[in-house]
Amino acid sequence: MEIDVKNLTIEKAGDMMQKGKLTSVDLVSAYLENIKNKNKEINAFLEVFDDCLEQAKRADEIIKSGKGTKLTGIPIAIKDNILMEGRKVSAGSKILENYVASYDAFVIKKLKEEGVVFMGRTNMDEFAMGSSTQTSAFGVTRNPHDLSRVPGGSSGGSAAAVAGDMALVSLGTETCGSVREPAAFCGLVGLKPTYGAVSRNGIIAMGSSLDQVAPFGKTVRDAEIVFETIAGKDEMDSTSVDLVSKNFSSKRKTIGIPWHLFEEGVDKEVMENFKESVEKFRKAGFEIVDIKLPYCKYSLATYYIIMPAEVSTNLSRFDGVRYGLQKEGKDVFDSYKKSRSAGFGEEARRRIILGTYVLSHGYYDAYYNKAWKVRHAIENELKEVFKKVDFILTPTAPIPAFKLGEKLDDPVSMYLCDIFSAPANIGGVPSIALPSGVNSLNLPLSIQFMARPFHEGDLFEIGKKFEEIR
Ligand code: GLN
Repeated sequence: MEIDVKNLTIEKAGDMMQKGKLTSVDLVSAYLENIKNKNKEINAFLEVFDDCLEQAKRADEIIKSGKGTKLTGIPIAIKDNILMEGRKVSAGSKILENYVASYDAFVIKKLKEEGVVFMGRTNMDEFAMGSSTQTSAFGVTRNPHDLSRVPGGSSGGSAAAVAGDMALVSLGTETCGSVREPAAFCGLVGLKPTYGAVSRNGIIAMGSSLDQVAPFGKTVRDAEIVFETIAGKDEMDSTSVDLVSKNFSSKRKTIGIPWHLFEEGVDKEVMENFKESVEKFRKAGFEIVDIKLPYCKYSLATYYIIMPAEVSTNLSRFDGVRYGLQKEGKDVFDSYKKSRSAGFGEEARRRIILGTYVLSHGYYDAYYNKAWKVRHAIENELKEVFKKVDFILTPTAPIPAFKLGEKLDDPVSMYLCDIFSAPANIGGVPSIALPSGVNSLNLPLSIQFMARPFHEGDLFEIGKKFEEIR
């Protein structure tokens, strides 16, 4: 059976399955065929599960029995830092190669209850550190729109899986831009939920005060359906809450634009496309106002203090004794050293060193404490701005997808890919990346909205509006 997977959405597929015009087995087979043809080159999946068709058969039975939900039988790809009981999970790192998860992450439990089909685990920057999926210990992932370019990162495998039609939707994680930036590079919708909207239980931690699970889809509605399924309070994550507001209002029409943040470093075509998008909203009756976010300018700098501090703490558990790679040394410290040196890649080691430095005696106040003060100033600044406007609009990334190999020897220029992502992560507010066209090389471009905490509904509303007017 020929299935037009390019134009498929969760609701279209679900509708066809409910009406008996399509089975999950047919659907999953179509995606498996694409994986067979494309994954060798794109390397979106580190592992394709060998029970996909069995899962699909079970889903078909659920649908036949009338107990199916929107997501039953839908093929989904999962980032390699989200635990699935009995399956390997490596966070893209040698240190966890062949590690098998002993329990399901909260988000996986939620998806299992719906009867989704897990297609496989997707490639990522090692421990989610990176913006291009080039720091994975298991090879780079290529952008399906142009195989000579990166898909973005760190959730590049999950983005490439959907953009390459190897899964209908996928899960990534965001600490700072790791879903929105690859969504931008791959022409997808990517949602970064409010911190606390989704449980972090069963996610391999990077920066615990920032990490969030986040969906990719080709449409806003697809991202919304996945988000609504995985959001909510979980007893196992005390930072998770049940606050997501289902009430959105189409009356929310004021868009604030911090023009002063784009004065330098933004690609010309990205800027032109952004201005065109702004005009579309103006014509559609939105009020566009100029806003100033003086503290947000320091979001990325703040991130590169707080995140490494948390990374150095979170990654200390990988000592070659309790998990993963183990190297024999002459004593216990020597084995730690040998295991960690062999297991962690360059970027992970750089961040552990940076984090240890900012947390060490004498530097703690100067760096770490100061960064937290700036973080609170950014949170307050956003709170104040959201009294005046309903949305903040910026380009998602300052540049389109770049060439493989680029920026690897210049970490700061890699970090700058997240210059516009950082305020939402540091400020804890939700944000959505939306495809906004292509540049002269046919590479996807993207705009992003931020909204008040727990107002994901507003983001879906304005995202759907943009799908009509863009
Ligand atoms: N690119 C950012 C970094 O390298 C974001 C990582 C993330 O969101 N997981 O830290």
